[in-house]
Amino acid sequence: MGKLHFRFGVVNSNLTATALMFRHTYTQKKMNALVFKPAIDTKHGKDGVVEEMGISSPCIDFKIDDNLISLFEKEKELQKIHVVIVVESQFCTKAQIEQLREISEEVSVYAYGLMTNFKTELFEGSKRLLEISDSIQEIKSDCFCGKKATMNGRFIDNVMEIEGSEIVIGDEEKYRAMCYSCFKKEQRKARVYNKILKYLKIFENKTTAGTWFIPKRMQVNKIDPYVIYDEEVTAFINEFKGFEIKNPEQLIVVSDNLEDLKKIKMLDQSFDYVMTLISYVLELEKHKAGLLKALIEDGSLFRWLKQIKRAIDHEE
Ligand SMILES: [Zn+2]
Repeated sequence: MGKLHFRFGVVNSNLTATALMFRHTYTQKKMNALVFKPAIDTKHGKDGVVEEMGISSPCIDFKIDDNLISLFEKEKELQKIHVVIVVESQFCTKAQIEQLREISEEVSVYAYGLMTNFKTELFEGSKRLLEISDSIQEIKSDCFCGKKATMNGRFIDNVMEIEGSEIVIGDEEKYRAMCYSCFKKEQRKARVYNKILKYLKIFENKTTAGTWFIPKRMQVNKIDPYVIYDEEVTAFINEFKGFEIKNPEQLIVVSDNLEDLKKIKMLDQSFDYVMTLISYVLELEKHKAGLLKALIEDGSLFRWLKQIKRAIDHEE
């Protein structure tokens, strides 16, 4: 009688290599370990071989509709099996984890896999493993900032993906193990990238941002003139309001004078600085009507957005 063990970690924590080293401790004792690998995983070898960091082993590639008990029984006819090891166990279906649970009545099963996907949600296989394993052990690894990594971010060209399908086949996508703070920071940047940077094109040659509304003299309650912004600018303002602004105090030293604002040098300004600067201008607009209009029409806002893009693109 064995046990079902779930050993989980984040991406790039060499989970598969750890599993293969664990297998080695069995083969050294002349015991047979049966290794299962989801066929969907082509990153760690294919056609019956699993490999990571130069360590390799024969394995059985299984598909999502395969019954692992049948595969186990078939293998048992060829040799005595002392232990079962599953790599990339997050790709197992719920039913397959239940089959592993059955196998563990006979021999111990060790499932190595990721806990959550790039959206921070449990994989189907990992969820079932959490529910029915006898033991759960974390294989720890660090975020690039030094804190413990608990999340898996998926990046395309340095921008984290916040939408998309759980499994992407191919190697163009890049995963990073991250702590929650770094994940949150990247998530915010990705949202800016998707929602704010589309205005780069719109503001590039924008000559009119809106029209002045001048109240008539005879009005009883005196209303100051203000700008009615066009649809594009209004959409931008609304989109921008959805972003949390970090460290607004860094702008205390910035003048609210239009000419001074135009002169702010963008080179080397951080992503957060420019975001804060834009929110400051939107705030000022309430008392200094037309400020935003002037900054859009003279190309300043375009320049600022370009700096946001540059800051995101060039950040490591
Ligand atoms: Zn971190």
